[in-house]
Amino acid sequence: MKVYVTRNIPASGINLLKTTGHEVVVNPDDRMHTKDELIAILKKEKPDAVLSLLTDKIDGEVMDSAPTVKIFANYAVGFDNFDREAAKRRNILLSNTPSEVLSDSVAEHTFALILALAHRIVESDNFTRSGRYKGWAPFLFLGTLLKGKTLGVIGLGRIGADVVKHSMGIGMKCVYYDVKPNPDFEKQTNARFLSMEDLLKQSDVVSVHVPLNDGTRHLLSTKQFNMMKPTALVINTSRGPVVDEKAVLQALADKKINGFACDVFECEPSIDCDPSDHLELKAMPNVILTPHIASATIEAREDMSKMAAENIIAALSGKTPPNQIK
Ligand code: NAD
Repeated sequence: MKVYVTRNIPASGINLLKTTGHEVVVNPDDRMHTKDELIAILKKEKPDAVLSLLTDKIDGEVMDSAPTVKIFANYAVGFDNFDREAAKRRNILLSNTPSEVLSDSVAEHTFALILALAHRIVESDNFTRSGRYKGWAPFLFLGTLLKGKTLGVIGLGRIGADVVKHSMGIGMKCVYYDVKPNPDFEKQTNARFLSMEDLLKQSDVVSVHVPLNDGTRHLLSTKQFNMMKPTALVINTSRGPVVDEKAVLQALADKKINGFACDVFECEPSIDCDPSDHLELKAMPNVILTPHIASATIEAREDMSKMAAENIIAALSGKTPPNQIK
């Protein structure tokens, strides 16, 4: 059968599809399709399955352009690009790649951002490179010691739980908020469940790890920033719209919080939603921005490629994909 891959991905999954006997057509351009292009290519190729990326908005219109497609298999753990109701109505399967190695990568990246923000790594690197370093000084780039400080994790799923474990390695205290408390995890670690409000008030570092949905859009906004310590560092590696960008800019400008690091953006791929605004993330020194690369390790990306292929192979042979999204 024919599988269309919307953008080139690491080889393991593509090879697996081919060795299973499927024909694989990969977008030859190393860029995402626009919606119109995607519709046109699906009409032309008539694939039986599509290996899609998070950047491909798969709605009813796209599905209707590809009536032969049995599964849209995302090469991502997130799946907010899928219209799940539209797929259900058309009996189309959806899947994602909730791989352990991906969670490990995102958790490590999150922890790298926490350390870099606390120790002002990016700011001081820029300073040093620009030739401004003139010798040791007592107040040069004073940062924050994380040992003994409190990490507040919002969303204790695969990634949030791993971030807690990393933080324990350097002696941080941990609190978390989740719609589903996890008493077993509390027994295994030093993490304590708190209400969202108490977590915001008590944490020195707040890290969000929730999926994007109607309940989590702007989960952190002005009201939440006003509850935080003025020394708080805020990290977002989940999805951009979970943090209200305008509110975080204002909170940084008003010194309601002390720093912000993110891997995802509210108006992605734009860094700032409103470039005409006088406040810009790009212009703030106590902000670290990475371009949605938290899962970008070779290990994670090969694993995701293979998982997406396995979901397609299962669906095309009439089986339930191992990572079906219901
Ligand atoms: P997960 O499903 O294992 O965990 C999510 C947790 O959030 C669950 O425990 C859930 O109960 C909790 N939750 C849901 N709604 C909540 C709410 N309103 N308040 C508090 N908790 C809530 O997901 P995961 O694998 O840990 O991934 C988390 C998110 O990270 C993904 O949904 C994805 O959007 C994002 N992600 C980003 C990257 C990246 O490259 N930056 C990579 C992978 C995943």
